Amino acid sequence: ANKMRLDKMLSNIGYGSRRDIKEALKRGLVKVNGSVEKSNSRHVDTDSDVVEFDGEKVSYREFVYIMLNKPDGYISATEDNRDRTVLELIDPVYLAFKPFPVGRLDKDTEGLLVLTNDGALAHRVLSPKKHVKKRYYAKIDGRVTKEDIEAFKTGVQLDDGYNTLPAELEILQSGECSEIELTIVEGKFHQVKRMFEAVGKKVTYLKRLSMGELRLDNALELGEYRELTDEELLMLE
Ligand code: URA
Repeated sequence: ANKMRLDKMLSNIGYGSRRDIKEALKRGLVKVNGSVEKSNSRHVDTDSDVVEFDGEKVSYREFVYIMLNKPDGYISATEDNRDRTVLELIDPVYLAFKPFPVGRLDKDTEGLLVLTNDGALAHRVLSPKKHVKKRYYAKIDGRVTKEDIEAFKTGVQLDDGYNTLPAELEILQSGECSEIELTIVEGKFHQVKRMFEAVGKKVTYLKRLSMGELRLDNALELGEYRELTDEELLMLE
């Protein structure tokens, strides 16, 4: 059983502000177990009571989980004074859940970003002890070599003296400009860019491909998103 006020329930899942809901109730738009309910303070059991809004059955849930293909130019935060945030890409229906990004991608980094209001899940995924794998695709200004693969496997020293944990570097194309995939198990500030700086190279494009077993859906264009499936959600656990 999960009891809560009817107006809170509807507001939490995006049916409007408490005021909007009060109005809708007055207008007779809300039914509980088949009967019109006009009181906003009515308590319902979100597991067992059947709530309808304007003729449509309402299904309650506490959490939302979104996979976004983050485009360049957006900040991984819920608010920012100067820049657009990833939340500006998300429909207001989802914003009612107050989602936030699970970890950060740089403003110019693209790819997989998970948004949720499930703080416990975010905490588990981001816990440094868990060593959740993060896989990136990058374009590098400079020739990436076998020596770089070895260096990343051992660990490199970042500009602040930190020694990185073993990381797996794969060269897709080596030349004046190289293309690589890199898997790291930690998430230091600008980590991928700083690892390449440590071997004298510059990242010119960066995209996250996966987190744990969760892969970015290739069908999502930049700026597009969708909810995680139940199966995908388990991949983050
Ligand atoms: N490493 C970076 O340098 N930037 C990111 O956005 C993610 C990983």
